[in-house]
Amino acid sequence: MTPPKHGRRAATPSPARPASVPRTATIGSQHRRTRVAAARSGSAALRPAFAVIAMSFAAAMMVATSVPALAITATDTVARASVYAPAEDTIEYAPQTVEVGSEGVMSPLAAEQYLVEAAPPPIMSQVASLGSVALIDTDAIVWPVQNPTKRSDGFGPRSAPCSGCSSSHDGVDFNPGNGTPVMSIADGVVVLATENGGGLGVNVEVQHNIGGELITSSYAHMQSGSIAVSVGQQVTAGQQLGLVGTTGQSTGPHLHLEMFGADGVRFDGFAWLAARIG
Ligand SMILES: [Zn+2]
Repeated sequence: MTPPKHGRRAATPSPARPASVPRTATIGSQHRRTRVAAARSGSAALRPAFAVIAMSFAAAMMVATSVPALAITATDTVARASVYAPAEDTIEYAPQTVEVGSEGVMSPLAAEQYLVEAAPPPIMSQVASLGSVALIDTDAIVWPVQNPTKRSDGFGPRSAPCSGCSSSHDGVDFNPGNGTPVMSIADGVVVLATENGGGLGVNVEVQHNIGGELITSSYAHMQSGSIAVSVGQQVTAGQQLGLVGTTGQSTGPHLHLEMFGADGVRFDGFAWLAARIG
């Protein structure tokens, strides 16, 4: 019967292990355990000296940490330091310089890169039956119909298209087709929504605050019963107001869009929209 390998290995002394091998205890090496034990017993004589030093250090730490700082300076008649009047140290440093090669390029920060503006105050619009309504500044502009390229009469003088029609066109005529949705050109508040706007027929007016300027857009000749908003209602750019029709003094289904400022003077809404929408 063969003895277990580990037993035979343990009985065999380590062959000529160099003296410089660290005395780390290795499991299974009885020979080296003995040498480590001998070393420990040799250092036992030094333990009292270490203990005394360690105790002295601990005592010093106790004194240092348990005696308050005030106790040490309590005998001073003049305060040496105060948190209310910190001593000002003056430290002189040689001025620092940075050397830049000739290829270095200065890139100053332009003030225009930081555009910080306070929000402009809202415009107060007087809406019938509602009183004062605040209009928030906006610059998001959209066309009043999906296909704004189809137009008939532009703004300005013209030959009157009907007996009651004006020879000076106060608006722009879009011809996107009967029943096409009519949308608000910008955020705003509805100030007029009537089924009987005289020559303008079914008419909705929306007031806007465009960059701090009071602008009114008027949408005329819409289909009867198509008005989708009410007076005083806040609307957003592109929100449907009604449908293209031919109510009032109109020769065919189209959107008659009038635009004017606070003075009520009509201006060319198409040019104004085209300049802002692009
Ligand atoms: Zn018109």
